Amino acid sequence: MTLFLRPQRIDKDQVLAAMRRVQRHRFVPSDCVHLAYEDQPLPIGYGQTISQPTIVGIMTELLNLYPGDRVLEIGTGSGYQAAVLAELDIQVYSVEIVPELAVSAAKTLLTLGYTGVHVRHADGYLGWPEHAPYDAIIVTAAAPALPPPLVNQLRAGGRLVIPIGPPDGRQYLWLFKRSASGDIRSRRLGEVAFVPFTRAEE
Ligand code: SAH
Repeated sequence: MTLFLRPQRIDKDQVLAAMRRVQRHRFVPSDCVHLAYEDQPLPIGYGQTISQPTIVGIMTELLNLYPGDRVLEIGTGSGYQAAVLAELDIQVYSVEIVPELAVSAAKTLLTLGYTGVHVRHADGYLGWPEHAPYDAIIVTAAAPALPPPLVNQLRAGGRLVIPIGPPDGRQYLWLFKRSASGDIRSRRLGEVAFVPFTRAEE
């Protein structure tokens, strides 16, 4: 007989340890390398930023992950957040709307050996239905409201973290939980500052 041990939820210490393993300097432009290990967002071109490490850690922990989970990320950007998830043995499906960023992030992640991250160039408003349902979803750009297609791609019991707010107004981090019966519960958390969620031209 084999002893079945319930997998342990990824805790805060494990998130921090994963973040220490990620070479953040590989995800920032060469003129910012000296700032790569400061706790601050940095420009990555195309008007976008690599998120501040503290917020990456907070959002990762809020997802309540288990090793082996499948996570949808909207807003690949530099690929840094995806790398942190990959360090935790998460299968990452990441969607980026700026084609150049999707290409460069995919290249960086591959070079660093993060083969569990899949990057797609598309409008993340629609999610990535082919791989749904996801155990958790993380949105790393501030949307005016929760895009309905994303909720539909979350499994029962799953969590979704997203900054919500207008580009010129206050943004807050929101945590959505989908119950086993399919109800959605939401909770507003702290104020945040993310680049805006954009939409592909119709
Ligand atoms: N997670 C990233 C943070 C990137 S900033 C990192 O760790 O570096 C947010 C990213 O969201 C930007 O690259 C922006 O181009 C992207 N984005 C904005 N709207 C989007 C949309 N509708 N679909 C996919 N990506 C989007």
